[in-house]
Amino acid sequence: MVSAAELDERHERVRRRRGPYRRGAVIDKELLEILACPVCKTTVVEREERLVCTQCGRRYPIRDGIPVMLVDEAEPGNAGAKPSGG
Ligand SMILES: [Zn+2]
Repeated sequence: MVSAAELDERHERVRRRRGPYRRGAVIDKELLEILACPVCKTTVVEREERLVCTQCGRRYPIRDGIPVMLVDEAEPGNAGAKPSGG
């Protein structure tokens, strides 16, 4: 037999565990740390539901919560910009 108070406590624990991606972050922080831009091997940061390389600025899409770390799928970043003049 389990008391009502004990059940309440269990529900509370389950509730806390649920919905880790409630606001902002889509990608797990631990996962972000092991992900890297395939071009520069540099850290990526999450921005507007995309992973942005801190080096070249390529933007990798996130599909169904899964980051697509493919150069072909990425939107080009700042590195492609040619310096004007000179
Ligand atoms: Zn890069």
